[in-house]
Amino acid sequence: MVMKSEDGRELRSFRFKDEDESQEVRAVERRMLLETLASQLPRNTISFSSKIRTIERSKNDETVLKLEDDSQISAKIVIACDGTRSPVAKWMGFPDPSYVGHCAIRGIGIYPDGQPVEPKVSYVYGRGVRAGYLPISSTKVYWFVCFNSPSPGPKITDPSILRQETNKLVQNWSSDLLDIIKSTPDEMFIRTPLVDRWLWPGISPPASIGNVVLVGDAWHPMTPNLGQGGCCALEDSVVLAKKLEQALKSRTISVEDAFRSYGSVRWPRIFPLTIRANLVGALLQMDDPLVCSLRNNVILPKLVQLGPMLEHTNFEFEPL
Ligand SMILES: Cc1cc2nc3c(=O)[nH]c(=O)nc-3n(C[C@H](O)[C@H](O)[C@H](O)COP(=O)(O)OP(=O)(O)OC[C@H]3O[C@@H](n4cnc5c(N)ncnc54)[C@H](O)[C@@H]3O)c2cc1C
Repeated sequence: MVMKSEDGRELRSFRFKDEDESQEVRAVERRMLLETLASQLPRNTISFSSKIRTIERSKNDETVLKLEDDSQISAKIVIACDGTRSPVAKWMGFPDPSYVGHCAIRGIGIYPDGQPVEPKVSYVYGRGVRAGYLPISSTKVYWFVCFNSPSPGPKITDPSILRQETNKLVQNWSSDLLDIIKSTPDEMFIRTPLVDRWLWPGISPPASIGNVVLVGDAWHPMTPNLGQGGCCALEDSVVLAKKLEQALKSRTISVEDAFRSYGSVRWPRIFPLTIRANLVGALLQMDDPLVCSLRNNVILPKLVQLGPMLEHTNFEFEPL
């Protein structure tokens, strides 16, 4: 892992082998992850393009999901993993996630003849703007640029505007980063306003109501500053599957009990992570010249340690 200033000066580098052998970074392209998970299911289990519009409880205690195409599904149990704008979370009484004051533009540089980047995670710190990149295969390099913006702004999908905005943000930064952005096809630029939702005990609704439960960003949207949102969604799934297995094997544990227990097991993991990710983001996005100088000349080169910095990625669970 390498940390650099915007002019390309190396501030600090770590080798996992030397610092903490239990840690490693694995870059997984979202599409590959989804295809791998989907490939484990029997054929035709997934119904694509089934967008939920509303949700309601029927008289026989089933949950009715009404879809955008006017069809509906009556479900005995609902495991809602429908992202930050989840209509199911809304129905359960969760407020919309809050915008945290910075946005990210990200993409994947494509190099059909082989990508030139070393197998390292590189972070580049500027004033109110930071970037990162790492190879995800022999021909692809993932990158992001995170920047302050007082409002989320309008939804921009025009790739030429996104490319222009990105280039403006990292103008004159290191040539590695600029080359990766240049090698990114238009359709791979995505701009996301970053949001989170703090699940205050006693104030936030629980993760489940009856036989409806939330998983992943639908329940606990967090900013990507610790790189944990997707990982936590996977952890949720493992814990929930275990709880459901116990309910199915037992005469005394109901599905509702399993969902409630999942909520209590997962809350102590995800609530502190949500707060920590938010605070780390606020710190890293500071644009005050004095703070940035302190960060680049003292905190990153002298104080940061790899083990404690990545300790939050450790997660122990019972095998399924
Ligand atoms: C810039 C950025 C960088 C990130 N980096 C990392 C990282 O390094 N590591 C990490 O672990 N996480 C990272 N994350 C977070 C990660 O992307 C999310 O936490 C993760 O995708 C959450 O998974 P999910 O399945 O809960 O939700 P999503 O991935 O959002 O999936 C939700 C699904 O629900 C569907 N859906 C939405 N609305 C409806 C509806 N009405 N009806 C039916 N279906 C619907 C969507 O189409 C989608 O398929 C990052 C996020 C951002 C923005």
